[in-house]
Amino acid sequence: MTTQVVAAKFFVNGKLTAGSSTETFELRNPATGDVIGRVPRATKDDVHEVVEVARKAFEAANWRDMEQTKRGKLLMQLAALIRQNFDELAKLETLNQGKPIRESKGDVAWTVRAFEYWAGAADKIEGETIPVTPNRLTYTLREPFGVTAHIIPWNYPLALAARSIAPALAAGNTIVAKPSELTPLTLLKIAEYAQKSGFPDGVMNVITGSGSIVGRELVSNPGIDGITFTGSTETGRQIMEAAARNVTPVLLELGGKNPNIVFPDADFPKAVQMAKFAIFTNAGQMCWAGSRLFLHEEIYDRFLTELKKQTELIKIGPGLDEKTELGPLVSKEQREHVLNYIRSGVDTGARLVSGGTIPVEPTLSNGYFLKPTIFTDVTGDMKIGCEEIFGPVLTVFKFKSVEEVVQMANDTKFGLYAGVWTNNLKLAQRLVTQVQAGVVAVNDYLVAYPQTPFGGYKDSGIGYESGLQAINHYTRIKSVTVNA
Ligand code: NAP
Ligand code: MG
Repeated sequence: MTTQVVAAKFFVNGKLTAGSSTETFELRNPATGDVIGRVPRATKDDVHEVVEVARKAFEAANWRDMEQTKRGKLLMQLAALIRQNFDELAKLETLNQGKPIRESKGDVAWTVRAFEYWAGAADKIEGETIPVTPNRLTYTLREPFGVTAHIIPWNYPLALAARSIAPALAAGNTIVAKPSELTPLTLLKIAEYAQKSGFPDGVMNVITGSGSIVGRELVSNPGIDGITFTGSTETGRQIMEAAARNVTPVLLELGGKNPNIVFPDADFPKAVQMAKFAIFTNAGQMCWAGSRLFLHEEIYDRFLTELKKQTELIKIGPGLDEKTELGPLVSKEQREHVLNYIRSGVDTGARLVSGGTIPVEPTLSNGYFLKPTIFTDVTGDMKIGCEEIFGPVLTVFKFKSVEEVVQMANDTKFGLYAGVWTNNLKLAQRLVTQVQAGVVAVNDYLVAYPQTPFGGYKDSGIGYESGLQAINHYTRIKSVTVNA
């Protein structure tokens, strides 16, 4: 399957265009290394133009002032079109990003749900009345910001785009989104579907190019009224600095080094299976990966033996093969980045108990595959023990007491997600309150719905996506007093 994409930006006439760009960049299938398409590398002028287009569309007011119920219907229509093209989108996501098709299908389903959720919410974005004095009526209005920018990473190109774009649109903003230059294809499709669904021209714009040029220019543009960024903590910092110059609000969804903690009384088979799932899904390229596994000393040996056994049975292959459980990494550079961590783990004295190398099968030799990897004897001061690896590499720690595991789990600059495995409610509740993470799963892992808040403590971010409260990031409050 080859895909040729001609262009990338959406202008006021709602058409695909290459803008002023003469350069393109190549997209590759991570499973084979083959070129699958070319996309324009937008210029700084293109960024200014697309922001201008979105601004005009906002000021034209046919979107902002559209009856909320109608806006919701358009979002519902978009969700329906995504559903109609379910298989095509899932295939495209896998072709471009590499993840197993089963996972891409899950991502498309999540995307449909996110648009449906915000379609339903569009006419429920409400203000409040506030009692002051008897002759005054004071109330609040929730108004859209204007033009919002959305910077999307490559690990969940579709689902993470939907997570921020859907509420922004529901609230009446016009948007400019920039997918990662590695994975722009599915979001470009969504923009086309938005046009087909009847969105006014210029409401949804997607611009392609690198983060260092297009992304940077977009978040520095004074015409942007709100920024949602999902990506690494380092880039998040740079974006916050750029935003500070224009006093633009930012919503940052950043990295993680998440603890997954197993107590002896937990459902053993389920905990083993989910520990594997928590780190090897999406080849570990997940902000919410359960990358630090904490095992109580009583179950440590037995758990590790079983986990290693199951890990070595994982079927590695191209994502389009239905039987594949672990696909390639997104790029050759990302694999090299992860391999450097593996070397560092070995060099600093951690024990490599599984994987750590590139698979030798000739059929996989042109793709960016890497075996699922497990390290034990890891300490929090090793690079592999404290930095986000963003690959299929699990680091395992042993603990004796609750105090100790809480301290170890929190000994990180990150605070995104945590898993706790126990059937003891008191113990679970203690961990829930003491672990420093924005999202906690008890006897579960990798669970997030469009209706549940998701966001990080500490260096993992600012603000929360999903759930009705996310609307706070896409609207501002006008406080009105009427003296009767
Ligand atoms: P990244 O390098 O920070 O890039 C993320 C996005 O930002 C990409 O679209 C990138 O464009 C763009 N970008 C890069 N530099 C920029 C700049 N100076 N100004 C504006 N935009 C810029 O992150 P990544 O490697 O793609 O993704 C992995 C990271 O995302 C991990 O740290 C992961 O934990 C985090 N993440 C967090 C969440 C969450 O919900 N908290 C979810 C998923 C991922 P290009 O790729 O085109 O250069
Ligand atoms: Mg990057």
